[in-house]
Amino acid sequence: MKTLSILGSTGSIGTQTLDVVRENPDQLRVYALAAGSNVDKIEQQVREFKPQRVALMNEEAAEELKSRLSDLPIPVEQGMKGMISAVTADEPDTIVTAISGRIGLEPTLTALNAGKNIALANKETLVAGGDLVMETARKLGCSIIPVDSEHSAIFQCLEEPKGTLDKLLITASGGPFLGWPHEKLKGVTPEMALKHPNWSMGAKITIDSATMMNKGLEVIEAHHLFGLNYDKIEVLIHPQSVVHSMVQYQDGSVLAQLGRPDMRLPIQYALSYPTRWPSSFERLDLRGKTLTFQEPNLQETPALALAYEVGRRGGTLPAVMNAANEVSVYAFLEGKIGYLQIVEIVEAVCQEHEVLDITDLESILEADEWARKRAKERIINS
Ligand code: NDP
Ligand code: MG
Repeated sequence: MKTLSILGSTGSIGTQTLDVVRENPDQLRVYALAAGSNVDKIEQQVREFKPQRVALMNEEAAEELKSRLSDLPIPVEQGMKGMISAVTADEPDTIVTAISGRIGLEPTLTALNAGKNIALANKETLVAGGDLVMETARKLGCSIIPVDSEHSAIFQCLEEPKGTLDKLLITASGGPFLGWPHEKLKGVTPEMALKHPNWSMGAKITIDSATMMNKGLEVIEAHHLFGLNYDKIEVLIHPQSVVHSMVQYQDGSVLAQLGRPDMRLPIQYALSYPTRWPSSFERLDLRGKTLTFQEPNLQETPALALAYEVGRRGGTLPAVMNAANEVSVYAFLEGKIGYLQIVEIVEAVCQEHEVLDITDLESILEADEWARKRAKERIINS
């Protein structure tokens, strides 16, 4: 039996994690639920899963939830403090990090320092603080099991001793605008970018998938999770999203993991590992399917090219790229900037950053805050 605290329970990954809990009542129980501000959704979840703790980041929303749950003996906490209590309590052994954005870094590090294992969806945390997070996990003997479908695929293919690994092949659907010329991309609206051809996900990651920044973040995520340098991490465009990623061994053998584009599978694997549980999820049917793979054109995907450069440079730069991207994506969603400006602003903020070494959480947060401020200034002046 695993006991979970789920950070970001009201989101796309959070609600699918609860689907997995519902499917496996003898294996999984929920200790705490935490989210941002969605009172209706979390109230429903609390009434169904009866956790022992609940937290909302937004203070007003937390007050509202407290009054709605007054018939139940469940403490409602607010702000980062609530998130921290959810991960440091004795009861949970596994924390599902399904929050969106760098805001997940502090609770993730706190959870590791409290000796918890992490089922990690929140890739921005690894991009901003990968070295520190992985080092903390190593020191405390905690495991970080990937939820992201590509990294789950790689993790599932890693059965051989690490020394024999040659490279990782991360697949990318290419998003809704694959092959569109620059001129046409200028006219992309939030509505157009929010429609992903294969996956249904939260707004931020859907925009990242369109710009290919998501794949860039995933390359950096893979570097930290699997300890390979960037020359050994390749991206392949695979529009059908059937092969979720592959690993190539030194003898030339390639192992792949295939599945329907359904996040419940990698979520369940992260929670069942080191075993595999049966599931009732719809099966992959390969009959009549054509699978294609092509090299990405780095000129047409500046976000991916930038992420490789930023990852290789390291230090505070990945945190800066991530923070500028978070700010730019939300500015695009709010209609403040155009589609192509998202990556242009991120590139510009990265370019003016003086890269420092990361020494601790503070140094990451400082770089993150600087980048947010610079990105906002550029947005106002654009
Ligand atoms: P959603 O936007 O659907 O959900 C985000 C969750 O985080 C919600 O529960 C939201 O709460 C909560 N949240 C947002 N901001 C804060 C905050 N400041 N404090 C506390 N909670 C907050 O995102 P997804 O589920 O799509 O993605 C979550 C993470 O998983 C991301 O890092 C993403 O990159 C990663 N991921 C997602 C995949 C997917 O298929 N969706 C696939 C692979 C990775 P509320 O709604 O209550 O405000
Ligand atoms: Mg992914």
